[in-house]
This record gives sequence, structure tokens and C-alpha cells, in this order.
Amino acid sequence: MTTRTLVAGGLVLTQDPALGDLPAADILIEDGTIRAIGPALETPGGAEVIDASDMIVMPGFTDTHRHTWQTAVRHTYADIDPLQYFAEMLGPVGAAYTPEDVYLGTLLGALSALDAGITTLVDWAHVMNTPGHADAAVQALTESGIRAVFAHGWPLTPEWTRDSALPHPADIRRLKERYVASDDQLLTLAMAARGPEMARPDVWLADLRLARDLGIRTTVHVGAYAHNAHHRAVARLRDAGVLGPDLTFIHCCRSHDDEIAMIADAGASVSLGVHCELNSPGMGDIPLDRILAAGLRPGLSGDTETKCAGDMFTQMRLLLAYHRSWTGGGHSRLKDPPPLGTRDVLEFATLAGARVAGLGDLTGSLTPGKQADLILIRANDLNLAPVTDPAAAVVLAAHPGNVDTVLVAGRPVKRGGRMLTTALPGLLADAERSRRRVLARIVADRRATA
Ligand SMILES: [Zn+2]
Repeated sequence: MTTRTLVAGGLVLTQDPALGDLPAADILIEDGTIRAIGPALETPGGAEVIDASDMIVMPGFTDTHRHTWQTAVRHTYADIDPLQYFAEMLGPVGAAYTPEDVYLGTLLGALSALDAGITTLVDWAHVMNTPGHADAAVQALTESGIRAVFAHGWPLTPEWTRDSALPHPADIRRLKERYVASDDQLLTLAMAARGPEMARPDVWLADLRLARDLGIRTTVHVGAYAHNAHHRAVARLRDAGVLGPDLTFIHCCRSHDDEIAMIADAGASVSLGVHCELNSPGMGDIPLDRILAAGLRPGLSGDTETKCAGDMFTQMRLLLAYHRSWTGGGHSRLKDPPPLGTRDVLEFATLAGARVAGLGDLTGSLTPGKQADLILIRANDLNLAPVTDPAAAVVLAAHPGNVDTVLVAGRPVKRGGRMLTTALPGLLADAERSRRRVLARIVADRRATA
């Protein structure tokens, strides 16, 4: 039997360039797919009606890179040298993560992403210590109800990340068979690759070939911090003839100008973890002026909540302010840096992000035929009303508390400002226990290395 929902009478920011904004429109959803958008659509018999009057209706956000497994130890690296985060979380502390820690962090992170209106999440899981860790992450993503790209990484012991001679874990083949061969279209598999900054040339080439054999996308950190930028990872991929549109490059802060051009020429994409980039001394300037000048439209990300906020409102707001302060302040190296508006950053957080995640045909805009991944933001909340420019209201002033309703593939996960999951509050108690275990390991590691 067909399930129908009508989202009625909202101020709709479709993010579809052909449809634009619709001041009072209905959205008809059938079996999770958007069937029609327009004023005064007929309500089909049996349809559930969601009243969207006094609401801004828009596509859910896409987070293009988040280390969701770390959610239980949020904000623990707020005032600490970012290099210590790498030494600890991506060292012995991460190596001691159990599958249960990964499950709890990933479930909490995915649910809080949904609560904040993120309907698609690229879960960057570089804590694949055993196949059980991968299963735990996938289980958490699936239980959360979020649309996820599970980016499978590597175990957190040094031989995997320092001039590594080890190929990407073969378990990724099992994951493709086990989870993605099914019809569950909420889960997509990608490779979270180490690339030329961490692996030997024969290894990163073989890893990329493996991803392409499996028909999955590859996402890789490049150009963050001077010690990584000197590898010229993008240029080496180009020289090897393997740069392509199935690659996403994260950060690129210190990537060289010619490498930014190579990314654009290859049709590859860029993901910016705005708040973390601004919060990490030494990482380098956000390359937004340079990537816009090259014609790229980046996706945004919450990166790691150990040192920043994960929601997209924060990323959008900071990126706009950063660009205007930096570029407007005359700091850009470009003679004529491109301008940036609220509409641009809203696009980065939605349609551009979905494209970066490889899901631009499925989500990222409210377009008939696409999945009904959408959010309702209360336009009559005190921090937003009265609304003159809805895009500006969302980008400049909205926050997760304004998100009233969240649908993923037409299925409600948040209504009336409340998450519908039954996992809470047990999850919070379990995550607290995981937090204590992980923090104890951090303390023990600091004692051992003092
Ligand atoms: Zn990252």
C-alpha cells in the first residue's frame, strides 16, 4: 500500500535552481519520494498531513565528513593543541576503542545530527580496529534512521598511517557484500582512504583501485598542516592519472593553488570542516576564496565534535563570517576574490553537500523524484520572527532548537521539536559510561608519555 504524506502550506526553500523559493506550497510525498511540489495540492485520501504554516521547509542538511565515533568524548580537545588530538585519539586512545564505544558514539552522533536537521551524514570511520568495529558503526547508523555514507577507514595503530605499507583493510569487501548489496538505500559505502600523506605510493594506488573495483567513492584528508601539505597529495594523484570525480578532498587548507585547480579540472570535490578548521591553530586558512575562484562548490562538515560544534548552522554562519572578514579584510591572496552570500552557504550545506557525498541525484534539494529528506524550521520562534529573508534567517540566526520536524525518506524522525527515537535516555547513560572509559584511557596515555 502506498504511504502518502502532505507537508502543507510551508515557506519552501527548494534549493532546486529550477523551482526556487515557494512562499506557500505543499509537498506531496509517496513512499518516501517527493511526488509533487506546488501551491494548494489536493490532499490524497489517507494521506498524513503535516501542517507547515509558520515553517520554513527545506532539504535536510548533508554533513560531508564527521568522525561520528568520537561523539561520546565531545569537546575534550577544546583548548588543546590539535596535534595532541592526533597523537591521542588517532593513536593509543582510538586503538583502545571497543566496538561498543564505536556503536555508542556513532548512534549518539547520528541522532544529534538528525536533531539538528542533518539528514545525510558521511560517517568518516577511521577506527576500524576490527570487523566488529565496522559492524558496530553500521548498526548505529542504521538504527538512527539517518541517510549515511559509511566511509570505512583503517585500524588506529601507527603502521597504518606512517608511510604505511599496509593495504586498506580487506574487510571493506565484506561490508559491500553484507550491507550494500541489499536494497537499503539509506546506507552507501565509501572508502575513507589514507592517501599519499599516510601511505606509500603503491599502497595508495592499490587502495584507490580497490575502491573503484567496488564501485564506491573515496574520501581523503589533504593539505591540513604544513607537514601534510608538502606531500602534494593531489598533485601526486594527478601525476598517477587517478584523479577523478569520485574523490572528495577534506580541508585542503594548505593545498597548493595548482592542486586546487587539479581538483576542479578532474571534477573532484572539496569538503570543509569549518568550525574545526578555524579552531585548529596551524591547520591553515580555509581555502574558500581559492576553491570558489576555481569553480568548486564545497560541502560542509562537523568533522570532530571533540573540538567543535557538529551542526550545520554553525558551519554556515562561521564560513560566511570568515569569508567576509578574511576576504573583505584584504587577506585573500587573490586579486579579485569571489563574493559569498547567504544563499551560497545554504547551497553548500544542502545540494552541494549532497553532491560531494555522491548523492546529488537522490537528495539535497526538494525536487520531484528525489527522496523526501526535509526539515521544518519554526519561522515564528523568537530568534527568527518576523522572517523577511528565509535563507538569511536560517544562515544567520537559526539553531538546532528551531528544527521542528525532520523527515528522512519521508519517515519522521523528529516531530514537534522532539526526537521520536526510543533509544534515549538509555543511550545517554551508556554514552556516559563510554565517555568515562575513553577519558580514563586518555589520562592513562598522558601519564605514560609524561
Ligand atoms: Zn577529519
